[in-house]
Amino acid sequence: MNFNAPRGTHDLIEKDAENLRYLETLCRKIFEKWNYSEICFPTFEDAGLFTRSIGESTDIIEKEMYVFEDRKGRKLALRPEGTASTVRALLEHSLMQKMPAAKLFYMGPMFRYERPQAGRYREFYQAGAEYFGNSEPPADAEIIIAASEILKSAGLKKIDTRLNSLGCKACRPAFRQELKNYFSSKEGLCEDCSNRLEKNPLRVLDCKIDGPRFTDLPQMEKFLCPECKKHFDGVKELLEKSGCGYTVDHKLVRGLDYYTKTIFEIRGSAEGAQDALCAGGRYDNLVEELGGSPTPAVGFALGSERVIAAAQKENAVWNASRPLKVFVAVSGESLLKEAFVFAAGLRRSNLAEPVKLAICAGAPEICVEGPVASRSLKSQLKLADKFGADKTIIFGEDEYKRGAVVLRDMKTQEQKEIKIV
Ligand code: AMP
Repeated sequence: MNFNAPRGTHDLIEKDAENLRYLETLCRKIFEKWNYSEICFPTFEDAGLFTRSIGESTDIIEKEMYVFEDRKGRKLALRPEGTASTVRALLEHSLMQKMPAAKLFYMGPMFRYERPQAGRYREFYQAGAEYFGNSEPPADAEIIIAASEILKSAGLKKIDTRLNSLGCKACRPAFRQELKNYFSSKEGLCEDCSNRLEKNPLRVLDCKIDGPRFTDLPQMEKFLCPECKKHFDGVKELLEKSGCGYTVDHKLVRGLDYYTKTIFEIRGSAEGAQDALCAGGRYDNLVEELGGSPTPAVGFALGSERVIAAAQKENAVWNASRPLKVFVAVSGESLLKEAFVFAAGLRRSNLAEPVKLAICAGAPEICVEGPVASRSLKSQLKLADKFGADKTIIFGEDEYKRGAVVLRDMKTQEQKEIKIV
């Protein structure tokens, strides 16, 4: 019986795992610089949390959520995104009372039953940030600038920031109605859009089939109430003054119902049609809808696999600080125990200073492999090469009698004896 990873999932091995770790470390540094603190929430939640937050007639809820019952018949769902869980935790732990403005970030896998293709998976990694308690344009601008700072720090040059405003409860209904009127008079909408028109007409705007067909579409910006317009102008001004480029895109909408006012998406040069690297916006009603007191909020999430793919496409150089790799070999088996104890001491940095200095030469991190029993010295040196060793320490009987081992530089192949006792 052979098992493979389920469709739409992937194993991250060696370089792929390293890249994810590199990106997550980068995100963490930038989030912390902007004073966001980390939140880790469960991989699954009450399914109702997502239905309530994301919206019943969205693709995520209608088609893509992994819903299951546990043994006690509770209806649970694997998290398709992080905002709903962050809000749930914010309320459950009364975080707004503890922090003047709660600024949180998260990272980890999300799950959506989508049709897999390059850059689109059923389990994928996101990193995201949420800013609660600030209704003013600086919070929106902060989130957008932090998102683009991550992408720029990841070495991406070809990024395209799209911005739009979806208005609020006061001004959006008129726009929705206008869209319904507009599309109702059009022939031949695709099947999805014919269904969406009643419940979610905004989604017709970003339909891959129908979206590009119409050039004279109604624009939300023209329907914004004075407050939403002032807010949108405020965000645009802050982005301009901070040197954060953007384009207003009247067709930009989001696949989640909770957004209000500002929404944005940052696109890059990732594979195929999956060029959205990161997306987010303001959601001023969600905290209240989930049972809290009215709390403005804005946030975003980036898709890690897509950012990694875009960085690779742009040949961005990711230099994760690599530890010094040391392999410990034994010539003959008699010194295996001594070599084992030495290698353990080296890992714990537990050796005399001159010995450490001779081997590590001040490297801040080391990675030690070996010793391995029952192999000839020749095959151990081959293993050291495979491991990518910078240095190999060879325990030989003659040297050991003199209280020494051989230190071999794997690049230059130079060998010298160093005293270890
Ligand atoms: P969303 O939560 O839908 O706003 O998506 C935010 C970001 O997550 C997107 O811009 C993508 O980069 C990424 N993303 C969303 N869905 C997927 C998926 N199925 N596979 C890979 N990345 C995804």
